[in-house]
Amino acid sequence: MERTLPDGATYTVIGAGIHGLSTAWHLAMALERTGKGSGTDIIVLDKTGPGAGASGIACGCVRNLYMTEPLHAILRHSVDVWMHDPVAFGFQQVGYVSAGEANQAEEYDRMTASQNAVGYPSTVYHGREARDFLTTLWPDFKTDRIEVVIHEHLSGYAGTLQAIAGLAEKCRQHGVRIFAGVEVTGYDRQGRRVSAVETDHGTVRTDAVLLCAGAWMPNHWALFDLPDTLDVGYRDGSFVAGKDMWTFWRLLEGEVYHDRAYVTAGGHNPPVLHVELMNTPVVNEETGQEIQDNTYVYWKNGNERMDRPGLQGGTMPIRIGPKAALEPYGHANDAYQADPWFSAYLPSAMGALMGRFEGHMPQFRERRNGGIGAFTPDNVPVFDWIQDNVYMIADSNHGFKMTGVGKLVAEEMVGGETPADLKPFGMARFAAGQAYGSGVTNCPWV
Ligand SMILES: Cc1cc2nc3c(=O)[nH]c(=O)nc-3n(C[C@H](O)[C@H](O)[C@H](O)COP(=O)(O)OP(=O)(O)OC[C@H]3O[C@@H](n4cnc5c(N)ncnc54)[C@H](O)[C@@H]3O)c2cc1C
Repeated sequence: MERTLPDGATYTVIGAGIHGLSTAWHLAMALERTGKGSGTDIIVLDKTGPGAGASGIACGCVRNLYMTEPLHAILRHSVDVWMHDPVAFGFQQVGYVSAGEANQAEEYDRMTASQNAVGYPSTVYHGREARDFLTTLWPDFKTDRIEVVIHEHLSGYAGTLQAIAGLAEKCRQHGVRIFAGVEVTGYDRQGRRVSAVETDHGTVRTDAVLLCAGAWMPNHWALFDLPDTLDVGYRDGSFVAGKDMWTFWRLLEGEVYHDRAYVTAGGHNPPVLHVELMNTPVVNEETGQEIQDNTYVYWKNGNERMDRPGLQGGTMPIRIGPKAALEPYGHANDAYQADPWFSAYLPSAMGALMGRFEGHMPQFRERRNGGIGAFTPDNVPVFDWIQDNVYMIADSNHGFKMTGVGKLVAEEMVGGETPADLKPFGMARFAAGQAYGSGVTNCPWV
């Protein structure tokens, strides 16, 4: 880690999570490629260090299961980045399988068509074909409620700490300097331009700021005196006045031990599995009591998260509101640990879906597990300039998977043109009646 903060840098990246590091690395490569500079023009500042935010605790699932179609192209770029060096990033391209009831069938058809249209191959199965597909991979899958399945061939999962270490290493290889323990406390501004970034270690003059502050984004938004609320127009013609710009949600994830290898019928590491059954409750398999009136669960091999073999999974996040206690972050924050009911929910849902997980409630791994994210007004990322020389990557907590955003933002920084695939994610959509946010799901990640 670098020690002496310079008094000036052409590009200042704030935040050493997945977005800050990917953007810095790609910007360094783009500057070199175009002869406009190099990684030595870039510094990354993090108040704690690489992976101190959500990027260091994410489940690591890389999927394209979005009803918001412009995200499909973003994931195409992201998988290109993951596959650039899958070993360095711990990326396992095992695929992603999502299963639903009949009410989601049309959405799945739309998603499959859109994913394939941007070169992200996926296959949709209906009815008996869907059930057969699942039992071919997992013979003990209890498929009675399943009517539709999507199989994303390029998706998978990554090791979170490994990905951060890999990206930080890429940055260093290109001369980017990463400073840990340097907190940005303010911005020196002339009108809509930032001339310097103020930190607890001194002031850094800069030409451009790349703001990649994750859950802390609302703090930076406030430093720019931007409004707490805005009017949001949706594509269906509806309109909400005075919506919160930022809403915090907390994630519920955990681990379940499983002493046999979790593999497919063919002996392979299975695809990440996601099941949303909007009309099927989750019942505590020991007491028979209903825990939730619908099922939303995902899991994959636990890998770097586990101290012995097991699965890592989760369910839908829970809304907190426009304010949240950010410090301490993640597993260290008592206020945002997974709820007590979750230790029954995850293994019960798994057991209800696959025979091999029946009776696994005692196998739930009791440990601290929690994390929060700042969501945008329509729960879809905002990638845009928020001052003349400040670019914000606010992924609405979707974004461990979105390493490709940094590649696209780097193109814009060096080339001056907004890449077509970034255009749908500007702030202007809210006033223009182009906000996203509909879809047949109970989940805010649409
Ligand atoms: C429990 C959990 C599980 C998740 N699982 C998945 C998943 O499976 N798949 C997926 O795609 N996404 C997942 N996500 C979402 C994903 O992790 C985040 O969207 C993504 O990591 C955000 O990356 P980031 O770089 O924007 O922010 P972060 O990783 O939060 O990085 C922001 C950094 O900014 C630094 N910072 C903030 N303010 C300042 C300041 N003033 N000065 C200096 N530094 C500052 C912080 O220290 C932090 O390191 C999950 C999130 C959580 C919480």
